[in-house]
Amino acid sequence: MTANGPAAEATTVEDEPSATAADDGAAGTESESALATARRQLERAAAHVDVDPGVVERLKHPTKVQQVSVPLRRDDGSLEVFTGYRAQHDDVRGPYKGGLRYHPEVDADECVGLSMWMTWKCAVMDLPFGGGKGGVAVDPKTLSEEETERLTRRFAEELRDLVGPKSDVPAPDMGTGPREMAWFMDAYSMQQGETTPGVVTGKPPVIGGSYGREEAPGRSVAIVAREAIDYYDRDIEETTVAVQGFGSVGANAARLLDEWGASVVAVSDVDGGIYDPDGLDTGDVQDHDERPGMVSGYDAPGTLSNAELLELDVDVLIPAAVGEVITVDNVDDVRADLIVEGANGPTTFAADAVLEERGVPVIPDILANAGGVTVSYFEWLQDINRRQWSLDRVHEELEAEMLDAWEAVRANVDGKGLTWRDAAIAVALSRIGGAKEARGLWP
Ligand code: NAD
Repeated sequence: MTANGPAAEATTVEDEPSATAADDGAAGTESESALATARRQLERAAAHVDVDPGVVERLKHPTKVQQVSVPLRRDDGSLEVFTGYRAQHDDVRGPYKGGLRYHPEVDADECVGLSMWMTWKCAVMDLPFGGGKGGVAVDPKTLSEEETERLTRRFAEELRDLVGPKSDVPAPDMGTGPREMAWFMDAYSMQQGETTPGVVTGKPPVIGGSYGREEAPGRSVAIVAREAIDYYDRDIEETTVAVQGFGSVGANAARLLDEWGASVVAVSDVDGGIYDPDGLDTGDVQDHDERPGMVSGYDAPGTLSNAELLELDVDVLIPAAVGEVITVDNVDDVRADLIVEGANGPTTFAADAVLEERGVPVIPDILANAGGVTVSYFEWLQDINRRQWSLDRVHEELEAEMLDAWEAVRANVDGKGLTWRDAAIAVALSRIGGAKEARGLWP
């Protein structure tokens, strides 16, 4: 199959409303909070699982949400105070696990919603972790390197009582990376009086980070896309793919699918995208980290907006940039046969329902991009054992974990006729419900 060219009208994804309104329970409302979406997804999937309704009610609420003030001495000597959060959703299966993001729109509701998705993600992968998420409401682009370091160290100090290798293990997320994790780990270790690599994952390998962690979410997106292509009786060599967001997740997913024979016809970054109906040479497209804004610097036959990319007539669409990009406003124009979610929450609840009605499968974020937290789990194991794995071992074990999770979800899709999202949450919920029922309610 070939891809049809982009439509003439150009709008941008940046025009989409952002997920800020906490309109919990307003069925069908677009631009709801991540928390409202996560709760509605939970209710929907719970109808297909034999689980105590009390457990479902409990899972609609986080265990704890900590809000902290993070004062920062700016380079010019002035003082600014930022607000930070850590949401701990559930730890019945093990320590809370999830990223810390630096983004101006971080708030408590967003952290709780994202922490719920982390609980499902860890359970669907059968990892011994629960869900957490946090961050600081700050635009990291406005901070110097020294300011970012001071902010990270102070944030680590404010969260010190909450986090730890056995209790809550943060990781990188939007606006943070190995550098911030190294500072966080150092700040925590200095106060604890002992080097504690297991307090965060996503560190540089030289201080206990895992090889392959950075590329893991993109790799899992590619693995899951490959399995889905096969499940729907397509040949990967004849499959066209469009990827929105050419960052850590999108670039790695695009390059692997390209390597495995798919034709990646379009990719984009925040400034727009490039398009070649014969397939881009993804190895030659520079990603966001290599040189921001350079996607458009590639010599492609065509360019397109982010909105146009989502509407391309391709076999597989991978939204791998930000949340809420497929909404009721554009879902009717989405022409892909299959959607594999690279970003967290790229499809709104209402758009998901439209795609289900149209018979367009959506492989959910909690399965597709779970390679990140899976290799974080490998990193945590390596830290505890003080023994580093080779990149080959990481790749092999990730492949095996992804295939196990894929099979568990696929069994629910085939056996119960569920959507891929309902099936994935159902797998997670039965594992979490089983653990909760076995442990009982304390006291
Ligand atoms: P990144 O910052 O490395 O890359 C993001 C890419 O998206 C960049 O190319 C950027 O230019 C582009 N982008 C930003 N805003 C955009 C917009 N409004 N429209 C179109 N493109 C835009 O980020 P990443 O780590 O690749 O994360 C992407 C998504 O994947 C996020 O939703 C993140 O939560 C999710 N995710 C990341 C990881 C991880 O470990 N990196 C793991 C799981 C899920």
